[in-house]
Amino acid sequence: MRTRTLLPSLLLLGALSFTAACSSGSDGSSGTGSADGRPGSTPGSTPGPSPVRSVDPSKIKGLQIVSDSSEQSSCPFATSYPDVPGAEAMTAAMKKDVEERLAGFRSGVCEDGSGDAEGRELNISHYFLVASGDVLGVRLSTQDHSGTGSGLSTRTYWYDGKAGAYRTALGLVAEGSRDAFVAALKDQLKGREGFDAALFDDTLSAPDSRTALMDDMVFTADGGLRVTFDRGEVGVPPAGTYVVSLSKETITPWLSGFGKRVQRQTVTPSRSIDLGAADVSEPAVPTHTASGDDDTDCKQVKCLALTFDDGPAAPETGTLLTYLAQYKARATFFTTGQNVAAHPDLVRAETKAGHEVGNHSWNHPDLTNLTPEQIASQLNRTSDAIKAATGKAPTLFRPPYGAINAQVKAATTLSPVMWDVDTEDWKYRDAAKVAQTVIDKAQRSDVVLMHDIHSTSVAAVPQILRTLTAQGYHFVTVSHLRATL
Ligand code: ZN
Repeated sequence: MRTRTLLPSLLLLGALSFTAACSSGSDGSSGTGSADGRPGSTPGSTPGPSPVRSVDPSKIKGLQIVSDSSEQSSCPFATSYPDVPGAEAMTAAMKKDVEERLAGFRSGVCEDGSGDAEGRELNISHYFLVASGDVLGVRLSTQDHSGTGSGLSTRTYWYDGKAGAYRTALGLVAEGSRDAFVAALKDQLKGREGFDAALFDDTLSAPDSRTALMDDMVFTADGGLRVTFDRGEVGVPPAGTYVVSLSKETITPWLSGFGKRVQRQTVTPSRSIDLGAADVSEPAVPTHTASGDDDTDCKQVKCLALTFDDGPAAPETGTLLTYLAQYKARATFFTTGQNVAAHPDLVRAETKAGHEVGNHSWNHPDLTNLTPEQIASQLNRTSDAIKAATGKAPTLFRPPYGAINAQVKAATTLSPVMWDVDTEDWKYRDAAKVAQTVIDKAQRSDVVLMHDIHSTSVAAVPQILRTLTAQGYHFVTVSHLRATL
């Protein structure tokens, strides 16, 4: 059978889940969740006995979100994972997985020269499971609709601050109890439609396969454990994702010492996190304030609207705000919700400095591949995060990859903003080239696309502002440009 023959390659590649079925749907349609990877937020997902607690990432001192994305529909990818001071070993594990998947996608889709992604897209998003006491847990959700991808796959990563070590999900269970644990999982899976007991036994007989297959475990708020198997891993692909929940009473005797600490910090989180990082320094957030409303009349003078997507990012966005203030330039930031949640202080600083904050979805999917409910969730969640940070809801949105259709437009009241000048800064990562592109191509009343997650793009800004200011340009927000034309 198909799944069986594909499984060895799955294990070799570290539990990337492969099936021959190339889903053209948006969320894996099999039920583990929303397009932003949250558990149980899509109809059809398996309800657990208790919710997974959400963690406020803005409370994590020194947190950086490592984001990478394109804005090109012929090569649509967006990846992100967190870098928490002290948990370098865990960050390295996530970085390795993300970079491998991205390299595979780029070589398969972006560099085949056809210039047509045909609905193929890679999206890796993250959220925190626990960030408390001496433990840290993160879940990465990968939507891979490339030729070899299979839709949604998820993995959890754990850090043990006491031992100073990265732990896989299976590290939550004591070694001596793993056989009993596996038997209990099988017991629950038996009788579920599409479950393949022989496949399950084969796969879990080798210790290495166990780690790769049982790579998504999460404690629920009541101390139970939820184990998720990706589509095609333990059953026929059409059956989708399998989620097994074990009660607190069942799982507790089987937990490792680390697992017990994670369980405790999930049920009753400490007020703070301490992973033993030597020196956690937060990059300063600029405190520039706008001098009233912008009275630039773009009918009378030459205006440009610089736009910066995919942020905010620390420290890049803070540096950019300082450059913009030096030239009294205003800009528009199309922020992703997951980065706003991590750095609300930077979004607040953008607003205070007189810039405009727009919506760029929660985790940068191609919205045209989503259902109306998912589109609304992507945009509403992000608008809520922006409003919580700044007190003001956005009125503009930029669809990731510039991908928009009637369904996307119908799902929101936000006004879409595209661009006139594409610097392709995400591709070149070359400050001089970014600056020269803007200086050469920008014309009166243009909207210019850049990304403030890249230090090279931020580094290009002083030269852009210096040169074009000397040519008589004024830098205004998108809404200002629209209102005065
Ligand atoms: Zn973007």
